[in-house]
Amino acid sequence: MDYKTLLRDSIKALPESKRAARQPVSSYTTPDVFRLNYNESPFGPSPKAMDALYEACKRPNIYPDWFSVDLKSEFAKLHGLPDMMHVCSATGSSSIINILGEVFLNPGDEVVLGDPSYEAFRDVTNVAGASPVMVPLDSDMNYDLEAMAAAVTPKTKMMVICNPNNPTGTFVDSKKLEDFIKKLPETVLVVVDEAYLEFVERPETYSMIKLIKEGHKKPLLVLKTFSKAYGMAGLRIGMAAGLPELISLLAKSGAAWNINILGQKMAVEALKDQEYLAKVAKLNAIERKKVSQGLKDLGCTVYESQTNFILFKAPEVENTEIYSTLAQNKVLIGCPLGMNRVSLGTAEMNDKFLAIMSEILDKSCKKKLA
Ligand SMILES: *Cc1c(COP(=O)(O)O)cnc(C)c1O
Repeated sequence: MDYKTLLRDSIKALPESKRAARQPVSSYTTPDVFRLNYNESPFGPSPKAMDALYEACKRPNIYPDWFSVDLKSEFAKLHGLPDMMHVCSATGSSSIINILGEVFLNPGDEVVLGDPSYEAFRDVTNVAGASPVMVPLDSDMNYDLEAMAAAVTPKTKMMVICNPNNPTGTFVDSKKLEDFIKKLPETVLVVVDEAYLEFVERPETYSMIKLIKEGHKKPLLVLKTFSKAYGMAGLRIGMAAGLPELISLLAKSGAAWNINILGQKMAVEALKDQEYLAKVAKLNAIERKKVSQGLKDLGCTVYESQTNFILFKAPEVENTEIYSTLAQNKVLIGCPLGMNRVSLGTAEMNDKFLAIMSEILDKSCKKKLA
């Protein structure tokens, strides 16, 4: 029997997904390996959150709170939302993205996405049998909002903007994005993924949660995660903010969207410690400037990042060669788009990364002259 005949039609027709094609090799590494490949925080969570984690470890026998009341309430409070009915929590943004596909997408629906952007959105669109409409980024690797608006048709169900974007690190100014969202038709569910917003250093930056607070009635969901600036990728917690009428629809998914007790307890304390978060963002900004300049000095093309990672293209040397030479030296980075993406680590990690980069490019330069 060919088990593939059991598949749902939309899954049978599925194009290759880069994420699904991942090899079953453990991605755990020993502490001597510098993991600059997953945009994890090298600083880890707030010490107060760690205390909450140790406390929660003592009672693994009790179920977590089904509705994550404390977490949603604290999140609502931090973002100035009236109450927890404006908030959904799940096991990572990844899980919320899956729920969006389950709850909203029909075969034939169109989903407008930036290209390149976060692959998970394209994957759930395909799984649902809907059609991703890929809108190329502009020459600065930033969203082309005019083209995004022009891509909307009567079939458009959803539009996704990752701001800042991954894997490019680029950022659309908040006011510009707000004006853009306000003009979209009410038939389009707008999803703004703000996984990296805490790292943005531009003045006058704000979350699109502002629109929800101000009574914007068109469908809008803003996604946040604890995986990046909060340093809790291993705990798997993601959040969505929206009007209660919209948030309540997410519950129609049968997905077990509960978070475990360790994550719940920890995340509440992490949200309360905004001072720590600001410290992380500041350290990240210092390192971002240093690594960005370092790469430019080595002759690399560097895209302007407002995140905790940098997309760059090295001169002369293949991105895969850069990856493998760094990996031999226990520094892991990414290779998207025929380029390289390096997550920002601690000062020590980044200095090692730049030193190896300098060696690689120096050697290639000498080879060329010889
Ligand atoms: C890392 C990342 C997330 C976070 O996903 P989690 O499942 O919460 O770890 C979400 N969106 C984007 C664009 C990301 O880069």
